[in-house]
Amino acid sequence: MAQSANSWELPIDTGEIPQNDAVFDAIVVGGGPGGSSAAGYLAMAGKSVLLLEKGLWPRDKICGDAVGGKSLGHVKALGVKETLESTPHFRVTGIKFSSPKGNTVRVALPEEDVQRLEAGYSLPRMQFDHLLFDRCQHLVRENGGMVIQDCAVTQVLFDDGNGGEDPGQGMGNQRHAKGVVVKIGGRKGEERTYFSKEIVGAAGYQCPVAKAVVKDSFSEEMVDNMHYCGGYREYWRNVKGCEGGIGDIEIHFVDSVVPGYFWIFPVNDEVANVGIGMVIGLLKKEKKKLKALQKDVIENHPLFKERFANAEMIDGSGKGWQLPFGSPRKKEKNQPRRASMHGIRLVGDSASLVDPFSGEGVGNALVTGELAANHILAGKTPEEYQAEMWKILGPELTNSYRMQKLSRKKWLLNWFVGKASKKPQIQEMMTEMIASKEAQENLHSPWFMFKTLMF
Ligand SMILES: Cc1cc2nc3c(=O)[nH]c(=O)nc-3n(C[C@H](O)[C@H](O)[C@H](O)COP(=O)(O)OP(=O)(O)OC[C@H]3O[C@@H](n4cnc5c(N)ncnc54)[C@H](O)[C@@H]3O)c2cc1C
Repeated sequence: MAQSANSWELPIDTGEIPQNDAVFDAIVVGGGPGGSSAAGYLAMAGKSVLLLEKGLWPRDKICGDAVGGKSLGHVKALGVKETLESTPHFRVTGIKFSSPKGNTVRVALPEEDVQRLEAGYSLPRMQFDHLLFDRCQHLVRENGGMVIQDCAVTQVLFDDGNGGEDPGQGMGNQRHAKGVVVKIGGRKGEERTYFSKEIVGAAGYQCPVAKAVVKDSFSEEMVDNMHYCGGYREYWRNVKGCEGGIGDIEIHFVDSVVPGYFWIFPVNDEVANVGIGMVIGLLKKEKKKLKALQKDVIENHPLFKERFANAEMIDGSGKGWQLPFGSPRKKEKNQPRRASMHGIRLVGDSASLVDPFSGEGVGNALVTGELAANHILAGKTPEEYQAEMWKILGPELTNSYRMQKLSRKKWLLNWFVGKASKKPQIQEMMTEMIASKEAQENLHSPWFMFKTLMF
């Protein structure tokens, strides 16, 4: 008898395709975590939303697959937490770090969060995104909206805000978004146009809405290679030390990989997501290739070759993608870069908001999805969105950028991990830092750091 498929391996029925020229309260471009969040929150507030997704479920998403505590509040609010917990996943209880010299330290996630099931999970994005999108597309359709998959936005339409001609490229705030042109069913598919005065750009690092804002309207740069990261991931079965469905995820500052890192994130009791990430500017400078680096670490590194000796890579799972970091850019007024204009708000990767130290981006996509929805509901200005987004995320993104820059120095990693592996007080401080913003502030207190590290 044929084995029945898991729910996240099945297609999602998103109903009828709206008529050409249809008008909505809001159009959300992209159905990943950022777009699902924006569409879900808008729909729950009773808005008619058009949710557009280029892919066709079931679909993969290249990621490390860790879903941190920040995400789980939104996963719960959007009504997906129980469903997620009823499917296979790995419950994260801590993070193991190793230094280039090979010292290791374990940082426990806060015990209360672990007990309350609020610390973090890891599970394949194919599964996570399916559960989230499916729930949010239901919310959208129950509230008078519509959803299209296999539908790529190809153009954003503008006017002058009074229904007059589009003032044209490079005309910044004189332009007001009014709708999108889409292709349904692939490149040669049918073209249609939909209208709304509120558009959310959530189509990831190559989002056409972000390009229409940053590049086309304001003639600013989209990509800065010192703030974009290359990431490569593979799925492996039977990696030693990843069994049991609960435990630690691992971040290794391997000598050959620094200034990047090698990760092992189990995603259920059989499979682990294994990958490498490095800032693209540094990758180019060092002339490194992520796939080859990973092969070398797995086959030859003393910490890992035994663990992978009886493991096998899942065919076709080796894939690369980019992470647009939210690290503050030099001389940029709109940090980390412009994320709004009349009628448009960008969320998640489309607004370049991935944490520059940990590589986490799902949480910030969910947070900004909700923020964009709230700003649309409250009728706030584009400037208010940009300012509030940076007020919420700026301090931690700036902090993480400092940590990323420190982690490029091998001697410092060796010294710090060496100290931390011997001093429980440092491990506790790191646990605290994961749990509270106040504890993160301590990182900036030279006296606190001196005391903790030296005595
Ligand atoms: C190798 C790697 C490892 C990572 N590891 C982690 C991790 O462990 N934890 C973590 O939190 N984050 C991680 N990230 C970052 C994380 O994947 C992203 O930050 C997150 O997916 C951002 O969500 P999003 O909704 O903004 O964009 P996406 O998830 O990229 O979703 C965008 C959606 O838009 C659709 N789309 C694209 N173009 C169009 C178009 N023209 N029209 C309509 N739809 C379109 C896409 O099909 C996609 O569904 C990793 C990223 C990479 C590359």
